[in-house]
Amino acid sequence: MQEFQQYIDGSFEDGSSCFDSLDPATEQAWARMPEATPSDVTRAVEAADRAFFAPEWAEMTASARGKLLYRLADLIAENAPRLAELETRDTGKIIRETSAQIAYVAEYYRYYAGLADKIEGAHLPIDKPDMEVWLRREPIGVVAAIVPWNSQLFLSAVKIGPALAAGCTVVLKASEDGPAPMLEFARLFDQAGFPKGVLNILTGGADVGATLTKHPKVAHVAFTGGPDTARHIVRNSADNLASTSLELGGKSPFIVFEDADLESAVNAQISGIFAASGQSCVAGSRLVVHHSIKDAFLKRLVAKAKKVVIGAPDAMDTEVGPLCTEKQVDHILALIEASVARGAHLVTGGQALDRDGYYMPPTVLDCSDAPDAPCLTQEFFGPVLSVTSFETENEALAIANGTDFGLAAGIFTQNLTRAHRMIRRVRSGIVWVNTYRAVSPIAPFGGHGLSGHGREGGLQAALDYTKVKAVWLRTSDDPIPDPFVMR
Ligand code: NAD
Repeated sequence: MQEFQQYIDGSFEDGSSCFDSLDPATEQAWARMPEATPSDVTRAVEAADRAFFAPEWAEMTASARGKLLYRLADLIAENAPRLAELETRDTGKIIRETSAQIAYVAEYYRYYAGLADKIEGAHLPIDKPDMEVWLRREPIGVVAAIVPWNSQLFLSAVKIGPALAAGCTVVLKASEDGPAPMLEFARLFDQAGFPKGVLNILTGGADVGATLTKHPKVAHVAFTGGPDTARHIVRNSADNLASTSLELGGKSPFIVFEDADLESAVNAQISGIFAASGQSCVAGSRLVVHHSIKDAFLKRLVAKAKKVVIGAPDAMDTEVGPLCTEKQVDHILALIEASVARGAHLVTGGQALDRDGYYMPPTVLDCSDAPDAPCLTQEFFGPVLSVTSFETENEALAIANGTDFGLAAGIFTQNLTRAHRMIRRVRSGIVWVNTYRAVSPIAPFGGHGLSGHGREGGLQAALDYTKVKAVWLRTSDDPIPDPFVMR
């Protein structure tokens, strides 16, 4: 059994309480993880609060903060194979995906390293004589960052990177499912040379998250996870009045018109829903396809889905690995069953694999005759595609916008004017046209409605970790007159 430690105030600590982490491919315990106690959470927040005001960090130039972030990025790039191996072991995400994604995580830190000294204030042309007024952009304070199990290094980079670039300090709670990569990341952070307490990393479940997010010294909560948890977080923010950014789930439509390049669209749909075993917030989980090409599209898609190599997550030829937890498999099976009961037709997959590990095969549900099937509106967070068809552009839009989520959308068409109309009218924070699932540190990411609010990635995300201070400076040498001279 490997042992991991939590990271508080620049020190690595064994937990006073621990839990076993299971390998999703074997269902066997492989590592002992520290479970943060309420007092650990308090110590971590207090360490972050002290670090926020300590001159080592508060007086550090923005360029020097950027240099530390560059150093961290280099360490991530150098250690990407080890981080990838740990994420694969602890979450079941396949090694091909973790290797590529973690190498790219370094680019997120580089992007925010470069931004650190480009967060500028402003000078105001104020409507009063002898007065200079300007705006300083200052860090908002201690940030509580909460991430789910999938892609934790990536989902934490889009929080830690901009928060530290802006001069905030952070307490991150890794998911209780698969925290190993984040606890290993703490060692790289420590090597990078940041002052102690600037970043603290804990793990544990809902109680730890609740204690952290409602702590009075937390100024902002940056959360990625499901909408139900987000509701708890927003309710808890009534205590400390922390601001929140919420990156939640999705039920993203993948819309294919009759003039689309069929092969490209099928390939994009396959990776859009089956990559990461569907455990992706932007999974293109609803195929909305023109009636005239539905059969041809499904025939190609199902043929490819059946050939997908399902296997051990650490094997380089595996294309679909296990889900992270047994609970996730149970949730998916229950939603498939409820959808079939409402008239959805199972085209392929639908049963957990009869082997060790939490394996679900690529699954396709045809909902053409089941408009009320729950699989059209509820998130699986697994390798399950629900299919509907349309005749007109307006019908396609009505289906696409017919959920309470609004994270991402894909549109496949060769018709430029139609693409522009769809881009304007689809309700989502991201829209991909003739491509799917592309991400970059330069492009913001986030949603509407049940998919949350706030944006991660891009310049604005760094500004969101700042608040504006208006400074008034009187420039006249004349004495200020007695205000009560008329008395
Ligand atoms: P979850 O909401 O159950 O858990 C997410 C995190 O919140 C975990 O670390 C958990 O311990 C913590 N948590 C649970 N209860 C809490 C509470 N009361 N207070 C504070 N923290 C608490 O989500 P999950 O099931 O682990 O992850 C899957 C969800 O995450 C899906 O809905 C998925 O779409 C979403 N997700 C969104 C994005 C995005 O960027 N929009 C990315 C990945 C995943």
